[in-house]
Amino acid sequence: YEAKKNPACVAFCNKEMASYNKKRHIIEQNLRKILFVNEEPQPQQLFMVYQPFMSLPEKQLAGFEALVRWEHPELGVISPGEFIPIAEDTGLIFTLSHWVVNRVCEQLVEWHQQGFDFKRVSVNISALELMNIKFAEDLLSLVVQSGAQPCWFKLEITETALMAIPEQAIEILQKLTMADFEVAIDDFGTGYSSLTYLKSLPASTLKIDQSFIRNLIDSSEDQAVIKAVISMAHSLGKQVTAEGVEQQAQLDYLIAHGCDVAQGYYFSRPISVQEVSRLYFEV
Ligand code: C2E
Ligand code: MG
Ligand code: MG
Ligand code: MG
Repeated sequence: YEAKKNPACVAFCNKEMASYNKKRHIIEQNLRKILFVNEEPQPQQLFMVYQPFMSLPEKQLAGFEALVRWEHPELGVISPGEFIPIAEDTGLIFTLSHWVVNRVCEQLVEWHQQGFDFKRVSVNISALELMNIKFAEDLLSLVVQSGAQPCWFKLEITETALMAIPEQAIEILQKLTMADFEVAIDDFGTGYSSLTYLKSLPASTLKIDQSFIRNLIDSSEDQAVIKAVISMAHSLGKQVTAEGVEQQAQLDYLIAHGCDVAQGYYFSRPISVQEVSRLYFEV
């Protein structure tokens, strides 16, 4: 409709599309290259950063979330919000996830040997990985082969991924839980959880999406949702983690209403391994 009215728009929109597609293509090609070509000689472009979780109300370290980072020599820092969806569309996500799990395992083995009590480290799992009915078995053997232990991990699965194929996802979560992994439902509140599934979900933690935390102080609706989620989770024997906590007032509210764990820039941004050891366990 716009195009008919204004021919200039056609050219403009096509140009926008073309540069969007070009960027996607460049990201895909580069991702393929770093994942499949022997990466040793070149400087490490992919690496993990770790963002602490704090227990409430004590504000003690309660674990970390491992988040992938990609720093390309020419393209600069590419955010996972940009390259994960591309990896998913192109099937590269499986190789990428494999790399992430291996890398985190290596790190945890090292921390364990150094005597660092890191609690559990959360790893994000893509919706596509849950499509593989053998996901639990595959992950377990990957972890065991690297000398790591399932009880060192928490797996973050988004509510949307879970509800896409609830029966299969729940079967997988059951196997993971039995193998001593813990499970958290990420971005909780943005998907469409059915209460039927929720009541019997093999997940220890609901991670409230940061969109509910952002305007918490001014929004009585967000406050109502948060109070309800905390109360429901506790009644079901689950913990609640709040993500994206940036302000003291947000934290105070969460503490006052019994939230179990918080994560966000208020405490720390995701940090490098060196910073983790400097801040949390080297004396
Ligand atoms: P997510 O798992 O929901 O992670 C939370 C995101 O919020 C992270 O962005 C984190 O850096 C950011 N964040 C943490 N605290 C705050 C805060 O106080 N304020 C604000 N504004 N943001 C905060 P990041 O690292 O860019 O990751 C984005 C998404 O990419 C993640 O969302 C996750 O879905 C995905 N992702 C990241 N790493 C991996 C990975 O290794 N594997 C997979 N499959 N997905 C990943
Ligand atoms: Mg997450
Ligand atoms: Mg999240
Ligand atoms: Mg989120």
